[in-house]
Amino acid sequence: MSLERTKVRLGEDDLKKRHIVMLLCCLFLLGIGKTVYAASSIEISTTKQLEDKVVVAWNPIKDAVKYHVWLSVGDENNYKKKATVLVEDNASEIISETEASTPIIETNEVAEVSMTQVISNISKEKTYYVKVQAVDINGTVLTQDTTSFYNGNIVSTTKQKYSYSDMQKDIKQLQQKYSDYVHVEVIGTTADKRKIYDVILGNPNAKKCIVVQASIHAREYMTSQLVMEQMEYYLDNYNKKYKKKTYKDIFDKVCVHVVAMSNPDGVTISQKGIGGIKSASLRKKLKKMHGAKYTTVWKANARGVDLNNQFNNNFKYIKKYKKGAYAGYGGKKPVSEAESKALVKLVNDVKPKAVVNYHAMGNVIYCNYGASKKMQAKVYKLSGEIRDLTGYHYMGLDTAPGFANWLVCKKGIPSCTVEIGKHTAPVPISQFETVWKQNKDVMAASARLYY
Ligand SMILES: [Zn+2]
Repeated sequence: MSLERTKVRLGEDDLKKRHIVMLLCCLFLLGIGKTVYAASSIEISTTKQLEDKVVVAWNPIKDAVKYHVWLSVGDENNYKKKATVLVEDNASEIISETEASTPIIETNEVAEVSMTQVISNISKEKTYYVKVQAVDINGTVLTQDTTSFYNGNIVSTTKQKYSYSDMQKDIKQLQQKYSDYVHVEVIGTTADKRKIYDVILGNPNAKKCIVVQASIHAREYMTSQLVMEQMEYYLDNYNKKYKKKTYKDIFDKVCVHVVAMSNPDGVTISQKGIGGIKSASLRKKLKKMHGAKYTTVWKANARGVDLNNQFNNNFKYIKKYKKGAYAGYGGKKPVSEAESKALVKLVNDVKPKAVVNYHAMGNVIYCNYGASKKMQAKVYKLSGEIRDLTGYHYMGLDTAPGFANWLVCKKGIPSCTVEIGKHTAPVPISQFETVWKQNKDVMAASARLYY
C-alpha cells in the first residue's frame, strides 16, 4: 500500500465526512433520528461502480451500534472481516490491508435510508461473497445477511441456444451486481410453469418508461440474448455518455421494462423439443400438433398458440386457423394465453411511451399498421431512430393481430417490430456480432427519445 494512495483516499474520506456531517445536520434539523429508518432485516445489496469499486448497502437495524462487514473471494466459506462500521460517528475501522490483491475498504457513509460501504480493488472474473452483521452494544450479533456477485462478463454471446435458465441465471447475476439499477418483477407464469420476467433497467420510479420485449416467437430466441446483452452493456458503462447523456441520466428519467423472453415455453420447445416441456398433458397435446416433428422452427407457445396473433386488433383475420400448431394459430379468443395477458397487463400498468418488439429475421422493421397520420408520425419517430441505427429497411402495411399492431391502433402507443438476422430463424450465433453492432444502442436510443 503506497503512501500516495493513502493520501488520495484520505482526501476522499474528508469529502465524504463533510457530506455526512451535512446530512446528519439536515436530519437533526428535521428532527429525524436514525432509528426512524431502522428495518427488521439487513437486506444487503451490491452495486458495481465503474472501475474496481462496489457499493455495499444495507438497512439500518434497531439497537445496532455497529456493523461488521465481511468479504470472501471465490469461496463462500472463507470470510474475512474487512471493516467495522460504527453507527455513532459513522466512522470506519479498517481491519486489514494485507496483500495488494485483496480488496480494501475505502470509505463509508450514511445514506438517507441505508448504510453503505465502498469496497475497492475488486478483481475481474471473480465471485465476491459479502456478509454484514448488525451488532448491539453488548457485542451480540442481532442479525446478519449475505449476498454475492460475480464481477465478470455475465451474458454469453457465443452460445447458440440461449435458454430460459441461462436468462434466469443472468437476470439474477445482473441484479446482484447492479442492485441499484436492476429491479426484477414476475409478470406472469406460463402453462408449463415458467416465469415471465420484467427486468426494470434504471430508476423503477421514473415518471416515464418504455417497454422492450423479445422472443414472443419461440425460434427467435437470439432476441433474448440481444436485449440481455444490451442491458449488461449499459450497466457496465453506466456513467459513460451516449449522445451527450450518460446511460444513468437516460435510465434515471426513462426506465426500461425489459421482457427478455415473452414466450419461455416456446423457446424451450424450439431449443430442446417437446421433451423440454415438463407437463405430461401439454406434451401429449403438443405431439399431435402440426409441426411437432420440426420443433426447431417452433414459433407458438406450449399450447400451440402463436402469441403474436393474439391481440385484439383484426383478430378475425386469424380465425381461419382452427387449432394449435407450431405457428399461425391465434387461439380461440384474443389474449387467452398467460403470455399475452402478461404483456397486456404490463402495458396497462406502466403506460409506456413506446414499445420495441424484437423478432427475427430479415433485417427489417415493421412500423406501418394503418394508423392515423398523427399516430403514424409518432411511430416513425421511434422506428426512424431504430432504422438510422440498424440500417434495416421498412416493410409495408402489416394488418396481422400482432402486439405492435394492437399497441399502435388500439392503445395509441408508438411501437414497431424489429427483425434481426439475415434469413433464417433460429439465427445462427455466427451472426451475433453483426446483430450486436446494428442494435447495441437501440434500447438506450429509444429511451432517450422520451427523455
Ligand atoms: Zn417473430
